[in-house]
Amino acid sequence: EIGRILLLSAVVADKTHFIVVSRDITEQRRIDSMRKDFVANVSHELRTPLTVITGFLDMILRGKELDEKMLHEHLLLMQQESVRMQNLVNDLLSLSRLESKDEQQSDPPEVVNMPKLVAGLAEDGVALSRGRHTIDTDITANQAVLGQVDEIRSACLNLVTNAVRYTPDGGKIQISWHFNPDDQTATFAVKDNGIGIDAEDIPRLTERFYRVDKSRSREKGGTGLGLAIVKHVAIRNHCQLRIESEPGKGSTFSLVFPSDSLIN
Ligand code: ADP
Repeated sequence: EIGRILLLSAVVADKTHFIVVSRDITEQRRIDSMRKDFVANVSHELRTPLTVITGFLDMILRGKELDEKMLHEHLLLMQQESVRMQNLVNDLLSLSRLESKDEQQSDPPEVVNMPKLVAGLAEDGVALSRGRHTIDTDITANQAVLGQVDEIRSACLNLVTNAVRYTPDGGKIQISWHFNPDDQTATFAVKDNGIGIDAEDIPRLTERFYRVDKSRSREKGGTGLGLAIVKHVAIRNHCQLRIESEPGKGSTFSLVFPSDSLIN
């Protein structure tokens, strides 16, 4: 079969015969390579802020002539880079916790009051946006969801944070919770009229560290792990992540909850 990696070992049975054992190690190789990429990515993501911090500290300690204003600016940059590392470590911990839970039996489900959660998220969005966007809610469903409240809140908050991050000032963001009578599902959605995403990038967005525009994500405090976390939460809570987007027009990220996870 093309593209598969087989490990062949031969054992001599007698003078004229030998036995060949073949083991398919394609999957093992794929996991090894993913692990290597992941470690390389994490190291790179940590090295950049550390280089900035150590560089500035070096300058300050060597007593380089720095007026008060410059010193303050450098301290602010060091603080920014420290926060970046903190966010990265927090996201890595969330991801690894979710992954280890994937392998275990799931926790007993909780009742998640979605209308209340969505209203709270709008307040979080306003705080994140600091008045730069119009943020409104459209809550027409009263259904609650059976799932893990902390996980669902953090996934939804990730989607709101991204909408704020990738929508230029003056843009509009709508956070909604709707019931769909046709298939009896309910949808949490965050719609923005921001920069949008090319169709070819959409399938890769939930990969760890995949960003369409690396420098924009970094500048806005992104870690590149947000949507990987959302994907895991969606799998664990039996909902589906949907992404619709048009470059220059905006994006809608939705979590669709099936009828059997809803409580009226
Ligand atoms: P990040 O920390 O970089 O935001 P995410 O995993 O949350 O990482 O998102 C991955 C990438 O998807 C982002 O870097 C950005 O390019 C793109 N993206 C996510 N949400 C949006 C959005 N609402 N509008 C445009 N692009 C988005």
